[in-house]
Amino acid sequence: MLKNLLGRFTRSTGVAIPDDLWDAAVAALPCAAALSAGQAGRLRQLASRLLAEKEMSTAGDLELTAAMQVNIAVQACLPILELGLEWYRGWSSIVVYPGEFLVPRSLADEDGVVHEYVEPITGEAWEGGPLLLSWEDAQRSTTDSGSAYSVVIHEFAHKIDLLDGAADGRPPFSRDLHPGLDARRWDALLADTFERFLSELDLIESELPEGVDPDSPQADPYYAHLPFDPYAAHDEAEFFAVSSEAFFIEPASLQRAFPEWYALLAAFFRQDPLARTHR
Ligand SMILES: [Zn+2]
Repeated sequence: MLKNLLGRFTRSTGVAIPDDLWDAAVAALPCAAALSAGQAGRLRQLASRLLAEKEMSTAGDLELTAAMQVNIAVQACLPILELGLEWYRGWSSIVVYPGEFLVPRSLADEDGVVHEYVEPITGEAWEGGPLLLSWEDAQRSTTDSGSAYSVVIHEFAHKIDLLDGAADGRPPFSRDLHPGLDARRWDALLADTFERFLSELDLIESELPEGVDPDSPQADPYYAHLPFDPYAAHDEAEFFAVSSEAFFIEPASLQRAFPEWYALLAAFFRQDPLARTHR
């Protein structure tokens, strides 16, 4: 499919992305449109190699289009722009669902009773397995202005975190690329920032007027005081993934709220998206 849509498959150079598709995908993503010519060239090279190396398929009756593949590849390669495609090694496929999809879950309660249920989700990534995405949600980063949202960056950030085998919010570091980073300092700052985020969330929930359902749209203005999605409170792995979305899509709020965490992410990704927006 990919070969037919995007031209000749060669593993070393990647697929040839037509100019019009590339320009449209970049223009639709403000943080990619802000890249310098050199960075944009690198992003395009990474995207074409990603499309050659990963098998992309769709679920349901969703048609796999070239525009869809390029749009996803642009978002996916932004986090590894200064790291390299090898940060997505160890897994091979991307499955795109039309919208939210249901995954079966089971959870043991404190009495040991296992509850089976299905959960609607917009994306999922686990170690060595395929990366799953909702296409409807993958496009939201380009259509909802002002929202620090990219399910694509979120799931690919999980893949980076998982590279050392643990979903713990601390990706592995490279001796060459990350000489200034060390695990102890990362863990300490992550724990501290995560705690501060939880306290802010507690404060907001304590201020919610009685009768306002936290999941209802009436609660949104209260949560809007947070620098990013309250889903980040789930655990450190989600905190890293949601922070990564904010880092690329809405860096100003993240930097304002947690400047040291922003600086640490900038050292890891070896990018400063906030400086780009000020050019
Ligand atoms: Zn997640």
